[in-house]
Amino acid sequence: MGKYNYNPFSTEADKFICHEEIEETINFALNARSNYTLMSAIMRRASAGKGLSHRNAAALLMCDIPEINEKIYRLAKRIKLDYYGNRIVLFAPLYLSNYCVNGCVYCPYHVKNKHISRKKMTQDEIRQEVIALQDMGHKRLALELGEDPINNPIEYVLESIRTIYGIKHKNGSIRRVNVNIAATTVDNYRRLHEAGIGTYILFQETYNRERYEKLHPSGPKHDYAWHTEAMDRAMSGGIDDVGIGALFGLSTYLYEFIGLLMHAEHLEAVFGVGPHTISVPRLRPADDIQTTDFQDCISDDIFAKIVACLRIAVPYTGMIVSTRESPQTREKVLELGVSQISGGSKTSVGGYHNLGGEEDNSAQFEIADNRSLDEVVCWLLDKGYIPSFCTACYRAGRTGDKFMELCKDKQIHNFCHPNALITLEEYLQDYASEQTLTVGRQLIDSEIRSLNPKIRKRLVKYLAEIRSGKGRDFRF
Ligand code: SAM
Repeated sequence: MGKYNYNPFSTEADKFICHEEIEETINFALNARSNYTLMSAIMRRASAGKGLSHRNAAALLMCDIPEINEKIYRLAKRIKLDYYGNRIVLFAPLYLSNYCVNGCVYCPYHVKNKHISRKKMTQDEIRQEVIALQDMGHKRLALELGEDPINNPIEYVLESIRTIYGIKHKNGSIRRVNVNIAATTVDNYRRLHEAGIGTYILFQETYNRERYEKLHPSGPKHDYAWHTEAMDRAMSGGIDDVGIGALFGLSTYLYEFIGLLMHAEHLEAVFGVGPHTISVPRLRPADDIQTTDFQDCISDDIFAKIVACLRIAVPYTGMIVSTRESPQTREKVLELGVSQISGGSKTSVGGYHNLGGEEDNSAQFEIADNRSLDEVVCWLLDKGYIPSFCTACYRAGRTGDKFMELCKDKQIHNFCHPNALITLEEYLQDYASEQTLTVGRQLIDSEIRSLNPKIRKRLVKYLAEIRSGKGRDFRF
């Protein structure tokens, strides 16, 4: 490494996501695919659970030796359990506005799409949507907006965040608002940070500059460097937790996989902390979009292997899968490394409260998991997972490098496990169906037994207070 212009410490997009380094890594991985000795050596290194470089991780992704592939899946499952236990964090997207000035050819919000209905919610409509989300049981949202300086200025986003945090309906509250808006300035990131956002999420879409420029022919998003360097500006603006992602299907999956890891290595090199989360969205059919027009869509098997190899490469980074994936695919990738999923999602503006009525066509893409949040919670419980609505780390200041340190030491369990059970109990008490309540209580009772006595004592007290209606929002 260190050849060409590649430099993970640089803040220039073409140096930390260096095309030549990606090409070399692709060659390395393709040449290594059947090399048993090399793959065994990489697996020995990986089994320490401290992560892998983009080169070694790419080699594992391309490995075609069945015995090693089995070991890859086994190791991914072990790392998942070691760092995340059986907890799965739940969230919902909230689409505030689909006005957009960009020309992204894969997204129905593109500016040339004249038949999709354009909508921007008023603060009153946001209140109705958030109450609908609170009534489902959600505590954590991801705000989604198109890019439009006139219709969706930063002031609108900030006002909406204030509205959302301010809504207290019955026992409901949104305790963490993550934000997925277009790349912006350091000053705007600072304002988002001051507004108390959780994670700033921005998908790179594709790390391949040439593809990127073709797929984003117009609008501010056309500027590859501005988009790729966004996380540097977000972190300079004080945002500790950033979430990266690539939209699989836009370019070759190996290129995107290497790009994601190089991006993570770059953030770690410059800011001392990698991304808080990695999302792995796959392209979906949408209004005006045919996935068959895209040659690089990936199979379920490759998708699962990407998740497993990411889990091994960046053990401390949360991984997110949305309702773009079917229940079957979600089940498979949960055990291989995914730590957060959305549930009961709507991708239309005003979709939770059905503000657009039956004729609404403002949705961003078709979802593949249409179950209600309660069905998703019950399904997770059935599979032995703890559905978690926890937002404690961010509210207790355990963000950025502080969070990563706890995660690396595996101490995070001492917080996350009881907090997951507390928030699950809140969900069961306030929102669950009879069936979910029964399975959930059984799971809580059996999980409590495995806790150390000091934590157990405090937890039992909190659970009793929630059950008797005396209190909410306890945390470790
Ligand atoms: N405007 C923001 C931006 O530019 O990043 C937020 C974008 S959008 C609300 C969130 C994400 O949806 C995009 O980053 C893109 O990856 C994804 N997306 C767009 N079209 C999609 C499609 N047809 N299928 C699946 N995901 C899609």
